[in-house]
Amino acid sequence: MSLNRDDIANSPALDLPRNLRFGLAANQRHHSTRDSICFDWLRASELSIQALGIELHTVGRTYDAILREGLLTDYHGLVRYPYGRDGGLMKLVARITETELEADSLDGAIYLIDPVDPSSIFPEALALKRQCITHKKPFISTMAGAIEWIEVERLHAGLHAHSSADALFDLSQQCAALIAHDALKDIMLDFATQHFEVLSSFAQRVATGTTGKLLNELAWSRGWPTDMPWVQRYLSGPMGGDAQIADLVLERQCQKVIFFEDPHVARQHEADIQLLERAVRVVTREATCVTSPAVANKWASAVALRNLR
Ligand code: PGA
Repeated sequence: MSLNRDDIANSPALDLPRNLRFGLAANQRHHSTRDSICFDWLRASELSIQALGIELHTVGRTYDAILREGLLTDYHGLVRYPYGRDGGLMKLVARITETELEADSLDGAIYLIDPVDPSSIFPEALALKRQCITHKKPFISTMAGAIEWIEVERLHAGLHAHSSADALFDLSQQCAALIAHDALKDIMLDFATQHFEVLSSFAQRVATGTTGKLLNELAWSRGWPTDMPWVQRYLSGPMGGDAQIADLVLERQCQKVIFFEDPHVARQHEADIQLLERAVRVVTREATCVTSPAVANKWASAVALRNLR
């Protein structure tokens, strides 16, 4: 089924309990000039955002910059939060923890991060990601991720695919990294089982050592040729596998990182994990990072929906 904006506006079948609501913030470099990624993202996704009625609960400086740039003017879904220094980002964190039934709850956060901006590692920035993972909501930190996620929502709402996301959904030109912390390795195997076809359509897959071993065994048990690894294995995470994969990302050899992080344990190699995520943000126009199973499942179902159309 393919719908246009008027269909959506007039369709009772698509009545959602309430509009989707995302927190939005961007580090200064990402909203300081006309070609900054916050604006390039909005130029690519503005029509979809409005068609879906997605509310963007936006921290003060980013909000001011969007209006200054002449984007989303008169859009009732653009909501202003206080400046970061007055607690705007902190408020987003609290709202991520709320359930859909609570008045101010958010469904996810788009925080366009400049990895060398010191505020990107303030406690509220780290807590925003952690609470998104804990509450199974998307935490999107790159421009490619933001375009991709609006497309995911489009597809799940029954709209036709939008050309602005074509390259991001062409998995045959991309490499995916698959990584899971110990408590989530079984869930990674379930994810790979359920979306084996989607994941197999990447040109290449890589993984950290232990996750990769389990995934190859899974693929071979499903008939993948036994003389061929399904994923190329790097070192185990604590031995430097995350750092090796970060280098692939920086070299434009890996575009999608699917990393099931355990937010409930302290990790000896936390610095390596942060390094990998920061590498993805360096390549913000091309790379994306998914940090929880619920979000990865929703993305993979959207890929399958797009392939059907
Ligand atoms: P592993 O590494 O797949 O070797 O367990 C994952 C990690 O902890 O980063």
